[in-house]
Amino acid sequence: MTDTTKHQGQRRQLIKLLEEKGIEDKRVLTAVGDVPRHLFMDKGLEAYAYVDKAYPIAAKQTISQPYTVAFQTQLMELKKGDSVLEIGTGSGYQTAVLMTFDGIKVYTIERQQELFKKTALLFKKLRLTPKKVIFGDGYKGLPEKAPFYAIIVTAGAPQVPKPLLEQLAIGGKLVIPVGSKDQIMTRYVRTGEKAFDKKTFGSFKFVPLLKDRN
Ligand code: SAH
Repeated sequence: MTDTTKHQGQRRQLIKLLEEKGIEDKRVLTAVGDVPRHLFMDKGLEAYAYVDKAYPIAAKQTISQPYTVAFQTQLMELKKGDSVLEIGTGSGYQTAVLMTFDGIKVYTIERQQELFKKTALLFKKLRLTPKKVIFGDGYKGLPEKAPFYAIIVTAGAPQVPKPLLEQLAIGGKLVIPVGSKDQIMTRYVRTGEKAFDKKTFGSFKFVPLLKDRN
């Protein structure tokens, strides 16, 4: 669980690359510099932690590509005091990036029990304290803690789960990759009780958002 000057140097290179790819939000770049991604990788793959790619983790899932994590985080435009819901805890890397933001409460849901247990334990070891790490189905959101100012889905959703739109605060944002084979990054902003503003941001590739528990 060590972070060396070599790792820190690799993160500085990664930040440069993300800037070249168009990430502008300084807080997002700082977050990528602050979170030791190698601690969230599977054993044997740590050496690739600062390559801008997705890699396999347990339960046939993947740790998202740093660019994707940065891009989705940037789209959320987080403000102090916001409560954020993440669907798809996975390795916990995206969760850790969100937690570097000042005054943000993070809830995160994972449906694979193996990953849920492994990552909850890793958070403890790293003394990272999300508000809650939940084992369950992200399609349903987390109604008891709604409304959220931001909801981020880190798996490809064949369609947009209605409960997630319903659990947004007015002014809140849902950042979700929509599609089956490839996904279109989509952001919904809730502008009124029944009004949403939708914008798309290009094509990405995610593991699928699955419905039933295994
Ligand atoms: N944020 C993660 C991305 C992991 S990949 C990271 O940075 O590592 C997407 C994750 O979504 C997987 O762990 C997968 O198990 C989870 N997932 C898929 N369908 C889900 C659902 N319905 N509810 C909650 N999590 C889900």
